[in-house]
Parts: sequence; structure tokens; C-alpha cells
Amino acid sequence: MDAPVSPVTRATPDATFAATLFRTMGVDGVYGRSGLYENVVERLAALITEYRAPEAEILRLPPVMSRSDLERSGYLKSFPNLLGCVCALSGSDAEIMAAAQRHETGGDWTASLLPADLVLTPAACYPIYPMVATRGPVPAGGLLFDVACDCFRREPSRQLDRLQSFRMREYVRIGTADQIVGFRTRWIETGQAIAARLGLACQIAPANDPFFGREGRIKAISQVQQALKFELLVPIYGEDKPTACMSFNYHREHFGLTWDIHDTTGAPIHTGCAAFGMDRLAVAMFATHGLDTADWPADVRAALRL
Ligand code: 5GP
Ligand code: ZN
Repeated sequence: MDAPVSPVTRATPDATFAATLFRTMGVDGVYGRSGLYENVVERLAALITEYRAPEAEILRLPPVMSRSDLERSGYLKSFPNLLGCVCALSGSDAEIMAAAQRHETGGDWTASLLPADLVLTPAACYPIYPMVATRGPVPAGGLLFDVACDCFRREPSRQLDRLQSFRMREYVRIGTADQIVGFRTRWIETGQAIAARLGLACQIAPANDPFFGREGRIKAISQVQQALKFELLVPIYGEDKPTACMSFNYHREHFGLTWDIHDTTGAPIHTGCAAFGMDRLAVAMFATHGLDTADWPADVRAALRL
């Protein structure tokens, strides 16, 4: 007899699940992706594009960004433990050669590494604010961006919903407090509508970012009290600990003040974003509907044009 099928998830993210979707690359949370998996990621991206407002400016970003921009954004105050920084060998040819050769003789070549002017981008929207800051006052209607980026967070894990290197898509809104709050309210609704079309069980919950250290706990409490972050949670590893597959964030005037971005009256602008974890959504799809996309419900296949 077949094992009973859970009403919410059909495929447990076990070794078979991982081997079907991913290829190991020797490091936890960093995987090659199979064609089966990537096809679903691409179709999820196309579905999210269907909801893009025509005025959105599209930007596809590289996986690295300016270190000084991220420092100025305040990332080191909030998440120093998650940041990946690019390091490289530099100096004369002889110095670089000596460092590289130390590896061949069993020594530690990494002792000669120096930090470059790049970090691995931890969220797709960070590079947008310094870009907008160079453009002068934000027009009365505000701005809207559609961004996507390979993101990195130093959180090694064997769970397939916690990757170190993962894809993030975001709609980023820049403008007045009212514009951002309205944008976020609409996206909380739209996010649930998308999850429904995908046949994903979900709930919206208030959330906080994983701020670092003792002070971080206070920041996290304040973030929840001010209702600045909501997440769309989907069961992947069980209904008792569902996974955040989308987040809806209001940063108030943090980035406006940090980057000196103001509106035409001189007031600091507010910002917010709707973020989609593309890899988490894809893993949630396979966990919910099984590993064979031909078996997925007809309306879900239609939504994804599978
Ligand atoms: P946030 O900035 O809210 O932490 O992240 C935005 C979205 O990126 C999350 O809702 C989630 O879907 C995705 N994300 C965050 N951390 C991870 C992770 O460790 N692995 C994967 N696959 N996705 C993540
Ligand atoms: Zn964002």
C-alpha cells in the first residue's frame, strides 16, 4: 500500500527530493539546479512578471555590489554574521605567486587575501537606493522597480529551504509613506492570490528580520510592534514550522535618510518592497505537488503554462 499522502505536502524534502532537483557542489546550501527545477523557477518568474505594473523600471543585478554602499546601508549594524565579502590576492606578481604557491606546499594561501571593494549582495533591493540617490528628487508619483538578483547569506544548512546562494525577485516602491503602505497592502493581497493560483497552502504572519546580537532582539521586537514586515508562509518541512516564501517590507524613511533621497518638497522618501524567494517558491511547489510536474493539478499547470 502507498504511504498516506499529507493534505498539504506530497513530497518530503528527503534525499530523493534533493537528488531530483539539485546537484551537490560540496558545500551545504550551494547547489546546482536540474532542468526540471529550473523550468519551474523560470515559470514562477514569468507568473510574477504578469503582475508587474507597466511603469516599473526593470533591473537585473549581478550577484555582487559595492562594499561601501552596503556599509552605508547599515548592514553591518544589523546582520554582520550573514555578510559575504569578496577577497582577492593583490600586490606584485611575486607576492601573488608566493601566496598561491603556499597552497601547493600545504600552507595557508588565504592568509594573504585582502578584502575587495565588493560584497555578495544579501537582498536584491540594496543596490537600488544609492542608484536612485544619484537621480535627484523623487517625482510626486514615486518610483517602482522590478529587480532580481542572486543573493548570498552566510547561513550553511542542509535544509533545502535555507540556501546560502538563492534567487530573489523584488518589486521595490519609493515614494511617500501613503504610497508605500498602499503598495504593501496590495502586495500582501496579491501574494496570497499568486499562492492560491499555485495551489500553495499559505498564511500571512507578522515577522522580523534576524537582527544580530543582543541589540538585535530589541530591533526585532520594534519591527514587529511597528508592523514593518509580513511574510507569506508555506509549509515545506511541516505545518508547524512553515517557510517564508515572500516578504512584504516597509523600511519607513531608513533608506531615504541614509542616502539623502527626498521628494520634490525636500522630505525624506519612504521605501518598501515585496520580495519573492524564487528558490523557496520552487521547493514549495515540488513539496506540495510532488516531483513529477505532469501530475500537478491542471489549474496549477495552467497558471505556470507548464
Ligand atoms: P528577506 O529579506 O525577507 O529575509 O528575504 C526575502 C525572501 O528571500 C524571503 O521571503 C525568502 O523567500 C527568500 N530567502 C531568504 N532567505 C533565504 C534562504 O536562506 N534560502 C532561500 N532559498 N531563500 C531565502
Ligand atoms: Zn527589499
